[in-house]
Amino acid sequence: MTELVCIKCPMSCKLIVKSFQDQIKIEGNNCVRGEHFARQESIEPKRIVTSLIKVLDGDKPVLPVKTNAPVLKENIKTILIKISKIEVNAPVNIGDIIFKDIDDGVDLVATSKTQKI
Ligand code: SF4
Repeated sequence: MTELVCIKCPMSCKLIVKSFQDQIKIEGNNCVRGEHFARQESIEPKRIVTSLIKVLDGDKPVLPVKTNAPVLKENIKTILIKISKIEVNAPVNIGDIIFKDIDDGVDLVATSKTQKI
C-alpha cells in the first residue's frame, strides 16, 4: 500500500494505492483525474519541468521555460543540466520552442517573452 497526495487540483486528496499482483486499486480520489494521477505515479511518475534560461541580448536577463509535456522523474536531473547550458538571443515569444526534443520527443518552450534591446 502506498499513500500519495494528488497534485492535480487544490483539493489535494489523499490517495491510497493498493497493488495486487498486476492490478492496482486506487482509493481516496474525488474524481477520475486523481485515479489517473495515482496510476501514473505508481507505474511511471512524470512531471512538467520548469526552469530559467539565460537571455543574451534581451530586455530581461533570464527567460522562464517549461517542458511542453510531462517527463519521467528519473530524467529531470539530466534535463536540468541541459537547460543550464542553454542561452538564447532575443526576441523570444511565449510558446517558442527553445530546445527541440530535450527529452524523448518533448520540447522545451518559452513561457514568457523578451524583446531585443
Ligand atoms: S482526486 Fe480530483 S478532486 Fe482530488 S485532488 Fe485530485 S484532481 Fe482534485
